[in-house]
Amino acid sequence: MRSKEENSSKNKNPLPDPLFVIDAMHGKLAKLLRILGYDTIYANSMSDQQVLEICQSGGRVLVTGDRSLYERASKNCPKAIFIPQSTRVEKSLAILAENLGISLDIDMGRSRCPYCNARLEKMPRTPLPWTQEVYKCPSCGNYYWKGSHWKSLLKTLGEAKKWLPPR
Ligand SMILES: [Zn+2]
Repeated sequence: MRSKEENSSKNKNPLPDPLFVIDAMHGKLAKLLRILGYDTIYANSMSDQQVLEICQSGGRVLVTGDRSLYERASKNCPKAIFIPQSTRVEKSLAILAENLGISLDIDMGRSRCPYCNARLEKMPRTPLPWTQEVYKCPSCGNYYWKGSHWKSLLKTLGEAKKWLPPR
């Protein structure tokens, strides 16, 4: 008898992952979204018009701290979220988790490079003697592993979860 994995179809989160465009005011948020595995364009050197076109044509969610851009995007883009520039990144993540259901847990198997948004590839053998699991960005060549910054990353995500309303 063959066992079928019927449970695999019971996905808790059937919606496709949101794609993002993040404005220049939220660079830290853009990096974290990539580490969490979300396809994110960081629009730090684009005109408002370019940003609006990318949101429209690519079905991307715009996150901006610019009120007038937000108002234009609300009329023309699939979804726009206004987050003031002064907002702590932990709270920004919580806002996105609440509005879009994004995950606040890192799975390095789906992480993207925080610098260039390419999906990381797991190295078949570790080139670093102090760790087993090493990932490489196929685009910029950077290596990633659970190093000293890992703790602060987890702390940031833990803080973000505290902002979520109790379920
Ligand atoms: Zn890269």
